[in-house]
Amino acid sequence: MTSAGGLEAALERYEPVIGIEVHAQLRTASKMFCGCAASGDETVPNQRTCPVCLGLPGALPVLNRRAVELVLTTGMAIGASIPPATRWDRKNYFYPDLPKGYQISQYDLPLASGGTLTFDTSAGDRTVRIRRAHLEEDTARLVHAALPDGRRASLVDFDRSGMPLLEIVTEPDVRSAEEARRYAEELQRLLRYVGASDAEMERGQMRVEANVSIRPRGTEALGTRVEVKNMNSFRSVERAIGHEIERQAAALDAGETLRQQTRGWDDGRGVTYVMRDKEDSEDYRYFPEPDLPPLRVDPAWLEALRATIPELPASRRARYVAAWGLTPHDAAVLTATRETADYFEAAVAVAGSGSPSAGASPKALANWVTGELARLVNAAAGTEKGRIDRAGVAPADLAELVALVESGGVSGTSAKEALATAFETGEKPVAVVHARGLGRISDAAALDGQVAAVIAEHPAAVADYRAGKPQAAGFLVGQVMKRTQGRADAAAVRAALVARLEAGAPDPVGPGAASDAGASRADATEDDR
Ligand code: ADP
Ligand code: MG
Ligand code: ZN
Repeated sequence: MTSAGGLEAALERYEPVIGIEVHAQLRTASKMFCGCAASGDETVPNQRTCPVCLGLPGALPVLNRRAVELVLTTGMAIGASIPPATRWDRKNYFYPDLPKGYQISQYDLPLASGGTLTFDTSAGDRTVRIRRAHLEEDTARLVHAALPDGRRASLVDFDRSGMPLLEIVTEPDVRSAEEARRYAEELQRLLRYVGASDAEMERGQMRVEANVSIRPRGTEALGTRVEVKNMNSFRSVERAIGHEIERQAAALDAGETLRQQTRGWDDGRGVTYVMRDKEDSEDYRYFPEPDLPPLRVDPAWLEALRATIPELPASRRARYVAAWGLTPHDAAVLTATRETADYFEAAVAVAGSGSPSAGASPKALANWVTGELARLVNAAAGTEKGRIDRAGVAPADLAELVALVESGGVSGTSAKEALATAFETGEKPVAVVHARGLGRISDAAALDGQVAAVIAEHPAAVADYRAGKPQAAGFLVGQVMKRTQGRADAAAVRAALVARLEAGAPDPVGPGAASDAGASRADATEDDR
């Protein structure tokens, strides 16, 4: 039932309407209402619990100020408005992962309302309106297991119970599965840039739910929506929504009426399946939380938080393209993480500062940061050097190396070698170039010595050249490059070589003709390279 053709056909007749809800675990030291640690050994369950997060009767919550700050900061980063005061509400429902029988959340006074997120798609930039962002507590984690006697059981791990969660909900503005994925990726980047969450989907730190409906093209009314859950990667977000659009189109085409449902995504089978008919918000009997006082948001506090927000990825991408002429692709790669973007910008700043590293162009720096340095950092993944800002090669030192490459002081190959060594040893790359003699041989006498040696070693090629075979010069230049491990400047080698060959050549035609021939032979060696 799910084929690309099926989806394409569905998209001709129906327009997808998608709203996205993201839950992200906030990067706090402790849980939302108690002093239990927010992280620890994840292989052993129920290590971080107390009467509050176990929901024992009589235990009282105490609000984690940092969790509120991270929601406020994220809210400001997306341009949301922040109310002067807010409060907490109880969302009542029964499920074994919720020991109190209610979740402390926010109902009609979220910490952030409105705002937008702009992201890149294959069809250009898109902006989606954010409806709200609020703070709530996470539930415990259920683990479904088989007991030794074969019965199936559900086990409860309370380490996640009471963890602070940021929920961000969009307006139904998303129009395709790809957009949904790109939105989620951009939101992940934003959460990481502002330090709100590590937002690792595979670790459950960021959970994406998509509300999907379709409507006949050209109509306005919203169709019946299905909420899709259990998507554990960005790839599954795109696949699940694509499948759901196709499924709904097939149902409507068959004359069926869609039901408002919650469906799960089965990644292995590539289908969504019914989990339950969806509850409406009245079913939760929301009411104000009596155990927590309302929260006043002090303007000075907000301003202090606003000052911590770095320039965001979308703005940096646009600036890299406009100011430095980078391709959108390079700009996207460089801004994928804040560490990489900060590193790159520090290198560009040094390069333009008039210091010894000056001269490295942003374009060349971009190539080195996304190419050779990224390769070394990725290869060190999982170690201290697996992060660009901890790799031990300072931005100024990379800029110095790249400037040397651009001025011809070292070949690209030798510079890569020097960078790899510097990455290993912690030396400065340019110091490695000098210490290991990797720089260009620019001394004319040294170069001429190498040329003389090659001429002596290859009498046959010399004879060929003198017999009127200019290709032989290309071969001899290659031999000099080999002897110097590529450290000689090829143009200088050619000049020195031709000078020696012409000087020592028998001259059957006459001086004027010989120098013309010399010129055309030099041209020929140019082509040989
Ligand atoms: P709930 O309270 O059940 O989570 P909301 O009304 O808050 O529902 O909406 C949740 C999400 O669903 C929002 O992102 C919203 O934009 C989206 N949404 C609402 N109606 C539709 C629809 N008909 N089709 C697609 N998405 C929708
Ligand atoms: Mg919801
Ligand atoms: Zn606790």
